[in-house]
Amino acid sequence: MEYKDFFSMMKNRISDGADVPYFFRDLMAMITEVTEDEWDTPKDPSSKLTKENTLRTYAKRGLSKKFAQSIVYKLSPKMFVESLNSKSKAAVKLLADDYSIYDPTATISNIASKLADCFVDIIRTAAGLIEQTELERQKLMRQSFDLKIKYGEYLRDETSNICAFPGCGKSLSVADNGTVTPVYEVALIDKGKAPKVDNLLAMCPICHATYSMDESKKTCNDLQGIKKILVAHKQSLRLLDDMPFEKGIVGVIAKIKNLKEKDLMDPSLDPKDIRDKINPNINLILYRTVKAYVDTYYVNLKDIITSADKRGEIDYDEVQDQMKAIYKRLKKAKKTQVEIFNEISEKVHSVSLQEDIFCQIVVAYFIAKCEVFDAVTE
Ligand SMILES: [Zn+2]
Repeated sequence: MEYKDFFSMMKNRISDGADVPYFFRDLMAMITEVTEDEWDTPKDPSSKLTKENTLRTYAKRGLSKKFAQSIVYKLSPKMFVESLNSKSKAAVKLLADDYSIYDPTATISNIASKLADCFVDIIRTAAGLIEQTELERQKLMRQSFDLKIKYGEYLRDETSNICAFPGCGKSLSVADNGTVTPVYEVALIDKGKAPKVDNLLAMCPICHATYSMDESKKTCNDLQGIKKILVAHKQSLRLLDDMPFEKGIVGVIAKIKNLKEKDLMDPSLDPKDIRDKINPNINLILYRTVKAYVDTYYVNLKDIITSADKRGEIDYDEVQDQMKAIYKRLKKAKKTQVEIFNEISEKVHSVSLQEDIFCQIVVAYFIAKCEVFDAVTE
């Protein structure tokens, strides 16, 4: 089915007399959460919205490739079905009748999902993705099924149960009443290469289906970049798995969380320069982040830790040694400063189960204390 036919059929039944540009936007909002400012369409400089004429042309002649590409990986057939089923029963029934010339099995109860699939197909085709034959599709699902049995749990763990496709963020399982059902597929990153674990990613079913039709080298490169980060992270987790870390840090973090602005002590009481640990010319954002934490919290944190140590709530010497040992192991594995900062923060998180931001404050403190990162030698 072509977009112009799909559009006019939908407009005829559910637009409530809205004009073409208005209904076009409505229809897109049913299938994608990508907002109009992110559409790759020519914009009207005064309103910052897509030019009305452009939308009229799309409705008449089909979607442009650029526009379709800007939404193709963010489609939600589920949202479309829910939205269509919230319309009047009479309108849905008429749509089922209209659509029966394309698909005689269309009924009032299945029309929403049939139209969702049809809409997704139209957008994928407009985006230049290559439609598969039924046989190819079956082969692909069979392959994903086999790979799930072999590597599924590992790959889902690798992405922390989130779709690996950049910008998607969907969970790879649904939880209902205390039971968890995995909902995902396994995709080959480079389709020309063997289905080995370093060439596989876990994705939500929609991204998996879209990517299977996508022959672009750029998407493949993006996914290879993602995989590289995931592999490095997993390797770091393994490196640090057996390294102990003082549980007493939980109490310290609780105290950091309670600090109000008025409680903060003047950083000039014990000024710390971290420029000799992190070079801003190489790692600007890490430098700025750590500096902000250190300027804000260093003096207070020193106070908190010293008194926790006195009360025996934490063994400060032990924490210092552990921090240093963790840093050394990551450094030996040739991790970058950003990786080291993130991995140690995560280690603190896994021990304390406190929010990442507070764990980062702790790590920043130990950078200022010279336990993490060596001084840059002049
Ligand atoms: Zn996804």
